[in-house]
Amino acid sequence: MSTLKTTDFADAWAYIAKKCATSDEMRAAVVTAVRMVQTDVGVTVDGKLGPGTATAVQAANSFKNWVFPLQAPKRGATVGISSHHADSNPSRPTHRGADIMYKRDGRWHVPACAAVLASFRGTVVRREERSNGWCLAIETADGHIYQHRHMAEPYVALGKVVMTGEKLGLLDQTQNPPHVHFELYARGVYDYNRSLDPRPALAEMRVVKQ
Ligand SMILES: [Zn+2]
Repeated sequence: MSTLKTTDFADAWAYIAKKCATSDEMRAAVVTAVRMVQTDVGVTVDGKLGPGTATAVQAANSFKNWVFPLQAPKRGATVGISSHHADSNPSRPTHRGADIMYKRDGRWHVPACAAVLASFRGTVVRREERSNGWCLAIETADGHIYQHRHMAEPYVALGKVVMTGEKLGLLDQTQNPPHVHFELYARGVYDYNRSLDPRPALAEMRVVKQ
C-alpha cells in the first residue's frame, strides 16, 4: 500500500503504452481506469499516469492521513503496543491484531476516558457485542476494513459514515489493563486469519491528544 514508488507508475505506464499500442480497445480500458483513479484522488483527469497522479495515489494510500486508534493523554505518555500481531509476534500465532495502550514512566498506561477514534473516513459495517466487549468495524471507500475490539458500547450506529478522527466510543473493562485490539484488512479480505500486521501502518498514523 504505502510501498509504491513514483517510478513504479512510470514503468507501468510505459509498459501499458507499449503493449496497448496495437489494441485500441485495451488502451481505452486502461485510460478509463486511470481516469477513475484520478477522479478518486482529486487530480486533473486526463487518463495518463504521470508523476502528479502517482504522488496523489501514494498520498491517498499513505497511513500518514490516518489517525491512531486511541486518543493519547495530554502529556507524559508515549504510544504503546503491548502485544503485536502474530506476524511481528511469533509467540502469539493466533493474535492477529495489535493491542494498543500507552506507556508512562515505563509502565502501561491507559488514559481515563480516552476515546477510541476512527482512523479514517468510512462506513460502520459491523457493530457487535461479544464476551470480550464490543467489536466495531469500519470500511473505507477503497475497501480497507479496520476493526476495534474490547470497546464499551459504541456511539455510532451500524451503517453510519464516520469521519477521520471521530470519537467512536470508550474502552470496556473486560481486559486488564484495558486496551484497544486493532485489526486491519486488505480490500476484499475480511478474514481474521488473513488480517494484515498493522504495525507499519500504526507507526505512520497521526496521534491525537485528549
Ligand atoms: Zn489483542
